[in-house]
Amino acid sequence: MVGSVPPAPPSPSAQLFPVPLPPPSFPILPVALASAPTPATATGSSATQIRSWNGLVICNPQKVFHPHSLDELQTEIKDAKHVRFLGAGHSFNEARCSNDTAIDMSGLNRIEVKPSKDHPTVVAQGGATLGEVKRKLESYGLELRPLPTSPHVTVGGAIANSVHATGLTAAILSDLVEEIQIIDAQGKLRIFNPLINPDEFRLALTNFGELGAIYSVTYRCFSKQNLERKDQIFSLDQALAQANTMVEQNAGVRWFWYPDLGGVRVTTDNPTEKPPQNMGNVNPREDAVLTKKNEDGLAWLELHRWWLPERVRNYLISKENKKQLATNDHRVADSADIYFEDFHVNSTRDLAIAIELAKLPYALKKIQEIFKKHGDRRSLFAIGVRFLGESKGALSLSAGRARSAVIEVFVHPDDPDGIPVLQDVSQALVALGGRNHMGKAVYINSFDNYAPRDVAAFAELRKKLDPTGKFSNPFHAQFGPPPVAAK
Ligand SMILES: Cc1cc2nc3c(=O)[nH]c(=O)nc-3n(C[C@H](O)[C@H](O)[C@H](O)COP(=O)(O)OP(=O)(O)OC[C@H]3O[C@@H](n4cnc5c(N)ncnc54)[C@H](O)[C@@H]3O)c2cc1C
Repeated sequence: MVGSVPPAPPSPSAQLFPVPLPPPSFPILPVALASAPTPATATGSSATQIRSWNGLVICNPQKVFHPHSLDELQTEIKDAKHVRFLGAGHSFNEARCSNDTAIDMSGLNRIEVKPSKDHPTVVAQGGATLGEVKRKLESYGLELRPLPTSPHVTVGGAIANSVHATGLTAAILSDLVEEIQIIDAQGKLRIFNPLINPDEFRLALTNFGELGAIYSVTYRCFSKQNLERKDQIFSLDQALAQANTMVEQNAGVRWFWYPDLGGVRVTTDNPTEKPPQNMGNVNPREDAVLTKKNEDGLAWLELHRWWLPERVRNYLISKENKKQLATNDHRVADSADIYFEDFHVNSTRDLAIAIELAKLPYALKKIQEIFKKHGDRRSLFAIGVRFLGESKGALSLSAGRARSAVIEVFVHPDDPDGIPVLQDVSQALVALGGRNHMGKAVYINSFDNYAPRDVAAFAELRKKLDPTGKFSNPFHAQFGPPPVAAK
């Protein structure tokens, strides 16, 4: 089904923003062609700079430690005045910044698989990346099923921020957790396990790095499976009318909504017995999607690409990718490949806010109004929508809500109107009960939209593990769970 496809191509990038942009001063590369980002760290003076994956967030700690053992980690935490923990730097805010001590967790990356037939698990240290866990599990024919789009995210970063994929069943990675070990402000190892301390375990499942170092995590894992991905183009009204059915009938559903074009690309992923196809150089996020059976859709996406930065556009419409587009009706892939769909462009600001699914039509209407207010702006990327069922974590994005939609808005860092747009969107969605993804751009505290009892209980647990506020920082003081329940 094809939605409203505008007839004529628009003129190039000048239409993207109200004022024409200068050429970007940074390299824009498809992530697949760039080397895997690692935090740039150096131990030492106040000149130490820690950059986020795309260089947009810079922290300036006095000291950076790189522990390789539990002992070292415990001593460094005990001795520090203030400390924050560094994962892969794939968050979009200052949550990991400390003016005093930063602890880079990348040296604590051991992974141990426990391949029981009935109940396989994997124990991974906080600094291991999800990509490393995936590779280790592969040799046992196992996998972690819901994964975010980037393989570089660490186990610690995923627990801190309720990292998620899409689908009604266990789309939030921490819902697969069976035990978390955290080092508290005194350097003491604390165990959170539903069989030992179920209430505290629920609180620790999404902890923003505020309870201490996430030292190790035990995940339930599953037999490896292949997924079949299909894409269709809908009008927004059609997609909204079918949203509930879509999430009930498919293991994974993701929308890419282009408000200026009126259409939604709906991507579904479902388990299959079919073998994986060789997808060549195709970037799974955009290029495997539109098919010869869907030529109107292809025209529609090509049209949109006029507004993408030139180098990215050239990559996307390269001959090889076009050939793939012309020959694949849909794709079958190892599920982890489908989950790990790195972004094409590493220079974006990104916010993600979870609302109840029933409020999705109002939320998208609000976004349309905001785009109109900001000079009829066109979106640089599609607005993403992913779907979540209820999560176990007390402060996870979908705690206490049977069905949620996570709305994701990207802006280009050179867009002069980008931050005001994100601020307006945040305000509108938080007013609709939205909850911030705390790893993305955050402009307004959204903890009023959680159960007050859980927010208060988290504050108490935080006080127990960190009585002096060693793990706090200005970002958390402003946007994190407040010390007492908001209501
Ligand atoms: C390309 C890309 C794709 C993404 N895709 C998704 C997605 O599909 N779904 C999704 O939900 N999010 C996604 N994100 C957001 C990202 O997953 C989260 O921001 C995540 O928290 C980043 O983890 P990190 O390892 O990079 O941690 P960092 O960015 O280094 O840190 C994030 C937070 O976790 C804390 N932290 C990290 N490690 C530890 C530890 N061991 N102990 C205690 N605290 C710790 C930090 O102090 C900080 O507060 C994506 C981001 C990018 C850049």
